[in-house]
Amino acid sequence: MRILVTNDDGIFAPGIRALAQALAPFGEVTVIAPSREQSGMSHAITVDRPLRMDKIDAIPGFENRCFMVDGTPADCVKMAVHGLGLRPDMVVSGINIGENLGTDVLYSGTVSAAIEGVLLGIPAVAVSQVGGELKHLETSAQVVAELFQNNLGLFKEGWIPADGLLNVNVPALEYPALKGIKVTRLGNQEFRNRVEARRDPRGRLYYWMTGGRELEEPSDLEVDYYAVKAGYVSITPIHFDLTYHRLIRELKPHLERGHAPAELS
Ligand code: MN
Repeated sequence: MRILVTNDDGIFAPGIRALAQALAPFGEVTVIAPSREQSGMSHAITVDRPLRMDKIDAIPGFENRCFMVDGTPADCVKMAVHGLGLRPDMVVSGINIGENLGTDVLYSGTVSAAIEGVLLGIPAVAVSQVGGELKHLETSAQVVAELFQNNLGLFKEGWIPADGLLNVNVPALEYPALKGIKVTRLGNQEFRNRVEARRDPRGRLYYWMTGGRELEEPSDLEVDYYAVKAGYVSITPIHFDLTYHRLIRELKPHLERGHAPAELS
């Protein structure tokens, strides 16, 4: 199995090293990641300047299979497939430091790299460690290794469809403290946005976008936030049919018209 490993925290982040090393036993791993952090870049691509891709000795054991791109996570996946001509069987993105739950997936570079795989017809997995600080990365690495160990045959048979990805979030706990694995749906609890205004040393205002979710006690373990809050690994299958199907039926009688301009009057 050919596995493409990427991330949004950059090629020097500890999470991608842990991921590449965890996946090495399961196939031929190539690492292509941004040269600097690209968190929150979502699905941005670089079309207004040239891209550079350099082989780099950033991860022990991957000397000839590790590249950095001075672009976004989605750029990296495109470069792997259309720049280097790789034909990966899977794209695995992460291990991100910080959860990607609920609406986070819309902003996440980690998840978008996986989406780019899906758009290119390659099944994908995104892996994130809950919490903003580097903590128990080894737990996330072990969870990924076990996911592949236990399901490698199924992965090879196309068990994750080429139009789907698995969004995996691992609580920042020691491995034995994990409660288990839940297959979940994305939560839709509101993110409480906050913009902090501060002053720089010259007295000028600057702003820092921040915020978070105030979660109640875990009630529905089928929802990604609550599963991780209760100590489970959350695995949400995601696909990207963004069409609002029910509304098509509702809108058709009201909005559809023929071609002739006269009918519009
Ligand atoms: Mn990140």
